[in-house]
Amino acid sequence: MSKASSIVKPLSAESADQMRDKCGVFAAWDVPEAAHLTYLGLFALQHRGQEGAGIITSNGERLIGHRGQGLVSQVFSKNELNQLAGNRAIGHVRYSTAGGSHAKNLQPLWVESSFGEVAVAHNGNLTNALHLRRDLEKKGSVFQTNVDTEVILHLLARSEGATLRDRLTKTLSQIEGAFSLTLFVREGAETKLFVLKDPHGFRPLVLGKLQNGFVAASESVAFDLIGADFVRELEPGEVLEFSEKEGMQSWFLPERPKPAPCVFEWIYFSRPDSVVFGKSVYEMRKKMGALLAEEDRKKGFKADMVIGVPDSGIPAAIGYSQESKTPFEMGIIRNHYIGRTFIEPHQMIRDFSVKIKQNPLPEDLKGKRIVVVDDSLVRGTTSKKINTLLREAGAAEIHMRISAPPTISPCYYGIDTPERQQLIAARQSVSEIQSFLNVDSLKYLDLASLYEKLGTKTSMCDACFSGKYPVEPKDNLLRV
Ligand code: SF4
Repeated sequence: MSKASSIVKPLSAESADQMRDKCGVFAAWDVPEAAHLTYLGLFALQHRGQEGAGIITSNGERLIGHRGQGLVSQVFSKNELNQLAGNRAIGHVRYSTAGGSHAKNLQPLWVESSFGEVAVAHNGNLTNALHLRRDLEKKGSVFQTNVDTEVILHLLARSEGATLRDRLTKTLSQIEGAFSLTLFVREGAETKLFVLKDPHGFRPLVLGKLQNGFVAASESVAFDLIGADFVRELEPGEVLEFSEKEGMQSWFLPERPKPAPCVFEWIYFSRPDSVVFGKSVYEMRKKMGALLAEEDRKKGFKADMVIGVPDSGIPAAIGYSQESKTPFEMGIIRNHYIGRTFIEPHQMIRDFSVKIKQNPLPEDLKGKRIVVVDDSLVRGTTSKKINTLLREAGAAEIHMRISAPPTISPCYYGIDTPERQQLIAARQSVSEIQSFLNVDSLKYLDLASLYEKLGTKTSMCDACFSGKYPVEPKDNLLRV
């Protein structure tokens, strides 16, 4: 367990990048073998972060935890899980940009405060953490990590109020941006669990029922693995408070802005077998592909076959195929067994970095007019390499279809996208990108038709496509 005593360097300009995480969280309340269940839940959420993982359990009296760098299966041994006693747990899988990859930044964060132990796991990114941190440091707070989440612990430790609920409300009203949290906090003789979403509801967070207890996770796919029943998605600004006496209580943070769930969770980030913001991700992606096919049909365009860039482009490619009656083929096979530590040779083999992951099937592709569906185009460099492989494999024509609008702005709410100048659609026109990618045509999804097709009733965050940010990215403004 960490104590709030070690000294860290003051935040540098890079720190805002280091503080940008995309992650997954889990919680269990009153379920047997909570640590083992959390382990399985995190395993199902592994796609949300592969850098490190952690679990903290509670037996009602004290917290016990283990965190480590690597995949969930590498971080926990049977022995370690057996030591995590208690029927309550929170867990976290972490992803960060390269600069922030340090053991000290792993979550759940865990400190001893004046009112007892506190532990927190966070998915999302706070947009004013740097501002708050500088202010807290002036007041004497000493930070141990580079992650935005730590400001929550310091604010909570300094907060005043008659009840824990008052203190938590005051704390959360000071932070801005995206936060789906699972949190253990001591109140009197009891350790309570809080599961909560920021008032905009940027990141997903779902509630499930397991035996006589509850579970919560970033995505419903975590419940499938442990046999829990899906109950519902948390509302934006909703707090679920779990206690010995009262069981589960739901209450809301006072701020009620326009909801802004992240549309990119449907497009790319969540697993296709999850239900996110009340919709099946797989079905949403198929609809996006169908919409691309509808647009092509209106223009009289027809291809010989459609392929999806594995794995995330495949559901939309299936949707395109079903709508247009164009045969779906694999076209490219992905190698799933590439570890983070794979060593690349020095420029020995051209396109090595792509070929190691994606290998085309020349027998399928030769002489064909193909539609290639991908979920997004960020820098464009990987797409260019894939298209070169497809050409070398004999494709006669390549028509690139992106099941998202052009990505023109970075995300400040917890998805790791590069800065604006590295986003190809922010710098180049569609015809310039088409030439860069060496494709015969390039089409994106239109944002308005996307919402219409998806039947979304609530407002969403689409800032990476529209440039309209629901919450001002204050920390980023501080850097320029
Ligand atoms: S900016 Fe894009 S990726 Fe970030 S929360 Fe908004 S829609 Fe999602």
